[in-house]
Amino acid sequence: MKEVYSKIRLVILGTVAATTATTYGFTLLASFKPFTSPTYYVDIEGSAINGTPFNALVEEAMENLNQALPPLMQLSAKREYADPCMTGDGKNTLALTETFCGEPWNEFGASGVAHLSYTGQIIANTIDVEADISLSRMSDESFRGAAGHELSHALGLDHSIFASSILKSPESRVARLPIDDPTPDDLCGIKFLHGDPTNCEIYLAGSARTDGKPTTAMFFGGGSSEEGHTYQENFHIKYVSPLLLDLRETWPSLFPELAPNVLDVMATIVVEQGDFDKKGKLYVIAELGGELLALNSDEQWQPIAPDLSNLVAAQSKTLHIANEVYVIEKLDLQRSGLADMDVNFFLGYTVDDEPTNLTFSPTPIKVSIRNESPSLE
Ligand SMILES: [Zn+2]
Repeated sequence: MKEVYSKIRLVILGTVAATTATTYGFTLLASFKPFTSPTYYVDIEGSAINGTPFNALVEEAMENLNQALPPLMQLSAKREYADPCMTGDGKNTLALTETFCGEPWNEFGASGVAHLSYTGQIIANTIDVEADISLSRMSDESFRGAAGHELSHALGLDHSIFASSILKSPESRVARLPIDDPTPDDLCGIKFLHGDPTNCEIYLAGSARTDGKPTTAMFFGGGSSEEGHTYQENFHIKYVSPLLLDLRETWPSLFPELAPNVLDVMATIVVEQGDFDKKGKLYVIAELGGELLALNSDEQWQPIAPDLSNLVAAQSKTLHIANEVYVIEKLDLQRSGLADMDVNFFLGYTVDDEPTNLTFSPTPIKVSIRNESPSLE
């Protein structure tokens, strides 16, 4: 399938830009995959506040993303300056600039921008892109993160709802840890577009439809205790008395051993190509102790019948190619009162045209919660 672009289209993506009305999954900018030359012109004078030269931080950001990129797409910096405001010169650029192409950064309301200019034709879902990235001094404190954020846009990813994603919009960042590096979820998004998504840490193997037809849908997800920096299956709760919890809240530094034991479970549902842009619903089903519960749109878990006859949806939306879902967001294991338990979370979606035909992941996200009795020594 070919689509001819008669004009150059300019897409501007700010890290704090007002253009980000909606955020989605490890999310994709468009239904096609941008192909950017892996070489960027980068020659930035000076060092960040922590003393590391800006050029070295850009290279670190590239190395981070290269983990997910195939050999021919390994990002690299050519130590030569090129003007990021020169669109259409065929050069990818990354520069630290005093203004955004003449517009003061504070008026522009962003600390960084990736302009992606698409040229030529979409062939086999791929289109050539020139990426010109401008970063302001506002991004100094987290320069590697800012560079990684814009480079990830250039690879075709959109903003994420997940707190620690390098693609989280900075204006809504609430993560406890600095966001300088991509999460496994971010790297999965890059692999989904440019590599092998089944070779991805949080890929949930297989996909199926209730009508038995084959599907190309894919499911990703896992549990994390640090907002997605790493994923794991087992979560341990150390027994803590309510009094100690209160003391810990008053003087957290005195009780470091009671560090918050927070559970996040995050998932991305990739729909099949033909279902993109259709109205549909996303489902999350928890299986625990032989019972089934479905996450409803009020973020409550509702019991459902084993034949799914009263299944409720977590979200109703126009389906994007990749759709992010917070299955569990910041559950405080210590305060939740949960004891030893094993939960399987299954993901699925339907399109509104065929509401009874569920496309789902036969492989669940497995979460085990274990109590650790206090040890008396
Ligand atoms: Zn952005």
